Amino acid sequence: MSTTCDHAHDHDHALSDAAKATRLDEAQALCVEAGERMTTSRLRTYELILEAGGPIKAYDVIDRFHPDGAAKPPTVYRALSFLEQMGLIHRIESLNAFVACDTRDHAHTAAFLLCDCCGSSEEIAIPSMPEIEATAARTGFQVKHVTLEAHGLCQACQAA
Ligand SMILES: [Zn+2]
Ligand SMILES: [Zn+2]
Ligand SMILES: [Zn+2]
Repeated sequence: MSTTCDHAHDHDHALSDAAKATRLDEAQALCVEAGERMTTSRLRTYELILEAGGPIKAYDVIDRFHPDGAAKPPTVYRALSFLEQMGLIHRIESLNAFVACDTRDHAHTAAFLLCDCCGSSEEIAIPSMPEIEATAARTGFQVKHVTLEAHGLCQACQAA
């Protein structure tokens, strides 16, 4: 991640192994509930996104997929779109990256606070966007999902 500041970015957002194992189990359960299969490649893709602890680009997932070499890109792109449909990950358009969903409610407006300095992302809960939906409805448009991306500086980067 390129930086625009000269302070150290030692704030680490990585999950502990135990927390990661819990998230993987929950994802498996969610798939079973939905009648979907959590295949090895889907699970590995999700694991890499959890391990990243922040926004990760598709080509980094492809690169890290196997300990001894990259994955076939279509495998990873298919897994990413499946995980996105399941609500397990979100795509952050402005960064062209993916991040694990931090909430357990899978029908929400995803809103992200993105630090332009250290590259961290934080998902905040916004239950719905009635104004966007109402305004869109007046033009005859039906909103399926909204993703909000707010750019700025995280607390650690402001203080540094
Ligand atoms: Zn989410
Ligand atoms: Zn920051
Ligand atoms: Zn910074």
